[in-house]
Amino acid sequence: MVATRLLIVGGGIHGTFFARALTQEAGFAADDLIVLDPWNKPAQAWRRRCHTVGMTHLRSTSSHNMGTDFRSLRRWAAERGYDPEVHFREPYARPSLEVFHAHLDHLIDTTGIDARYRTGTAQRLRRNGRSWMVDTETETIAAESVLLATGPGKPKLPAWAHRPQIRHVYDADIEDAEADDRNIAVIGGGISAWQYACRRSVRNTVTVLSPHEIRRSMFDSDPGYMGPKKLRGFLQKTVPDRETELIDARRPGSIPPDLETKVRARIADKSLRFLVCNIRSMVSDTSGITLTTTASATLGPFDEVICATGFCGQHAADSLIASTAVDAGFPCSDSGYPLLQPDLSWSEGLYVSGGAAALTLGPTAGNIIGAHKAFAMLRDTLT
Ligand SMILES: Cc1cc2nc3c(=O)[nH]c(=O)nc-3n(C[C@H](O)[C@H](O)[C@H](O)COP(=O)(O)OP(=O)(O)OC[C@H]3O[C@@H](n4cnc5c(N)ncnc54)[C@H](O)[C@@H]3O)c2cc1C
Repeated sequence: MVATRLLIVGGGIHGTFFARALTQEAGFAADDLIVLDPWNKPAQAWRRRCHTVGMTHLRSTSSHNMGTDFRSLRRWAAERGYDPEVHFREPYARPSLEVFHAHLDHLIDTTGIDARYRTGTAQRLRRNGRSWMVDTETETIAAESVLLATGPGKPKLPAWAHRPQIRHVYDADIEDAEADDRNIAVIGGGISAWQYACRRSVRNTVTVLSPHEIRRSMFDSDPGYMGPKKLRGFLQKTVPDRETELIDARRPGSIPPDLETKVRARIADKSLRFLVCNIRSMVSDTSGITLTTTASATLGPFDEVICATGFCGQHAADSLIASTAVDAGFPCSDSGYPLLQPDLSWSEGLYVSGGAAALTLGPTAGNIIGAHKAFAMLRDTLT
């Protein structure tokens, strides 16, 4: 059995943010830390997703970077001669993925925290005396404290799409199956759908099938919740009202203005096709995959149908958070969010960061700014 002072479950954006900041800024000894993740590299799940959709710039401002100082990325990039015209897109100086990752890799290299990453998936979490016991596929890790940073959950598919022929853009092996000169349907109307459609349309015929018209929004949720302006009122509400407000404050299925411009140009020059419809069912035969809409129109056949229809949420029914809630009897909201104390603890020595902490941190909990906020709240507790 392995023992550690702190175990971070999930080495994605949030887990890596904590590991780096704790060791480099809060005096936490790296040897007292383990980060557990099925991927063998920090933030690899995030890197793969960004690569798959062909993302070039982040949607959020350069202030929301992997250092705790909001100026860290801009300052680091200036020192290394990154051209701001190329690497910080206005408005909000949104960083290129290239500079964001170079900065992240620099932070990882200077701390050596990648050496603290351990490959595995936490399957069960239980209390044993004063320790938390985390079972993976191959071992048990005993930890004085555990931070759950397990991300947005599994890719979510519409009911009709639970068939082997239909893929989700964030399936772990999606790129391995990629081919050119295909007739592709992309299901969804958000940033992932449109980015992926733009990338694949360079060498394929791509039709985006969205349940709604193109919706423009600079950010994926109301930015007022990043600060006290809206967060104070949110936190004064009852849990059911907060759950409703979370839905209202998010802007799923929206794209920022620069992507909208690109998409509309592609539609106008016919290098992308776009149809507003809802899919009801699919059939697959030797000619490909044929889709039927709720208005009984038939579309296809397509060689590939790729859903960009979001995530289930890390608090979904089959998640580690849900199984821990059942096993330990910890409190959850009706839709499965863990009910955390204001300091993000769910029980003694057990903490949550990421989208699952949204009832405490608001709609931006799952974003990069959510990691900044969670770290600010937990820094003293964890050290
Ligand atoms: C394409 C894309 C672009 C985005 N762009 C932005 C942006 O510009 N700005 C912004 O603020 N936000 C953005 N987001 C939203 C958000 O910042 C990301 O989803 C980010 O990855 C969330 O960080 P996370 O650590 O919660 O999740 P992840 O980065 O997904 O990390 C979670 C990690 O936990 C691991 N894990 C899960 N379950 C277990 C388990 N049981 N045991 C061990 N490990 C486990 C996973 O393998 C994963 O590595 C974007 C999201 C996507 C999908």
